[in-house]
Amino acid sequence: MKRLAAYCRVSTDRQKDEQTIDVQKTFISEWASKNDVIIVEWYLDDGWSGEMLARPDLDRLRDDAKKELWEGVVFLDRDRLARKLSLQELIIDELRDKNIEIILLNEPLADNPEGRIMQQIKGVFAEYERAKITERMRRGKIHKAKSGKIVGNEAPYGYKYILKIGEQDGYYLVNKAEAEIVKMIFHWVADEGYSMYRVIQELYTKKIPPPKRKSEYWRKSAVERLLHREDYIGITYYNKGMAIMPKHPQNVGGYKKIKKSSRKLKPKEEWIAIPAPAIIDKDLFEKAHQRLKENQLYNRRNKTYNYFLSGKVYCGCGSKRVGDGVNGHHYYRCAQRIYKFPVASKCTYEGVNAEILDEMVWSKLLAMLSNSNVIKAQASRWQKKQDKFKTISRDDVYQAKHALETLIEEEDRYTQAFGSKLITFEKYKGFIDGVNAKRKAIEEQTKETLIMEDPINFNDIDSVCKEVMDDLKMLTDEKKQKYMRSMIKSIYVKERSNALVNGCIPLCTQAQNIQYEPKRRDCWIAKRWEVHFV
Ligand SMILES: [Zn+2]
Repeated sequence: MKRLAAYCRVSTDRQKDEQTIDVQKTFISEWASKNDVIIVEWYLDDGWSGEMLARPDLDRLRDDAKKELWEGVVFLDRDRLARKLSLQELIIDELRDKNIEIILLNEPLADNPEGRIMQQIKGVFAEYERAKITERMRRGKIHKAKSGKIVGNEAPYGYKYILKIGEQDGYYLVNKAEAEIVKMIFHWVADEGYSMYRVIQELYTKKIPPPKRKSEYWRKSAVERLLHREDYIGITYYNKGMAIMPKHPQNVGGYKKIKKSSRKLKPKEEWIAIPAPAIIDKDLFEKAHQRLKENQLYNRRNKTYNYFLSGKVYCGCGSKRVGDGVNGHHYYRCAQRIYKFPVASKCTYEGVNAEILDEMVWSKLLAMLSNSNVIKAQASRWQKKQDKFKTISRDDVYQAKHALETLIEEEDRYTQAFGSKLITFEKYKGFIDGVNAKRKAIEEQTKETLIMEDPINFNDIDSVCKEVMDDLKMLTDEKKQKYMRSMIKSIYVKERSNALVNGCIPLCTQAQNIQYEPKRRDCWIAKRWEVHFV
């Protein structure tokens, strides 16, 4: 009994026509049982476009072709291999080179050169025919849309598509339950002034699933799309967008189900308006858009805020805090809470006002850098730390270096003598052992030592601090941020009244504990300023 492999492929759009992969499988299985062959391995690319050859199971088949697991492969027809003739031929040639039999059920592959050329010519015509049909269909759809008929059978949220029956063309019917939700969302935004986040939160609390019910909560993009749909005021559009290659593909190098996976909006002049049943009135639609515009102004302000400490601030739960602007205010908020919104997060720590934290950390940093007592205390600690090390003077270091160089010259001389057969190997080895012992001694002596720096002049610290302070006060925001980021490693903020700042000022690592308590929402006064050394 012949051992064969079988390959089936179905693209996503075909599946909708119920041409599932199972239909192909059944067809091949029936053929196999009638023809006394056994299918030992199935290769199935379910929902993959024939535009590209990079498909997971086609790749597996091509890899297995080298392993002699089976004698041949069965395909329903050439189109399963690829859409383009050139790509079909590529696979056929590749398999044939490996002595693998190719069985096409709908049209057997010719076994002589003339026959194959004929099949290829037919393939070229079929491809051309397909392109012509696609173009005719495209023009047909545009014509249909221009005569005011709905194109496509997918209705937007709030509607149901009623299929064409006899003379009656397909149309949108209002889905009453969904229409109520559409009305409610517009009302929330237009009349109640809800933010996008508030809308998402409310929908989640009311357990209203998003369109297509893929997730338990609505995404911002879905709400935004809904609020921009003119369908709800009676106009649906055809020819709004086109498929394009993604500019920033997410899985670079990975398998892609379709080539042009991104969409781009066409200019509005090219859109074709088709009447649809309205769900809300124009006034409500426009009012909601006015609100959205106002929010956008806020958002623009949010975006221009430069979060000085972004990437350095952490939440009490351990997650990073990210800059987030809401209604013109800027916060460092827990990433866990933001990204999981509106699903309740385990983290309960609130956002901290970014402007206040940035300003506070900067002013504390300034105060510390300009406070000569703090610097003096740190300097003396640093000095003490230095004293713990064995120190040698610069002169000693130079002497040690010189001694090492002399040893290398000595070693060279012995080697030359040995090479010229002036000394025996035993003698040579004895000399070299001596050199190595001396070298070890010098290295031991200089190990774990630091060159003694000139001692700190504590009397200068006051004036240096003053100079630093004068310079720092003049800094631009950009430089301020640069300095802050270079000195601060991380900031932990649990409750809003306490921030733990970890950072380093040249040479020493230290942690400062800044405590402050809010007097008013927008004014936090520092209570205590302590410096701990770690
Ligand atoms: Zn958190």
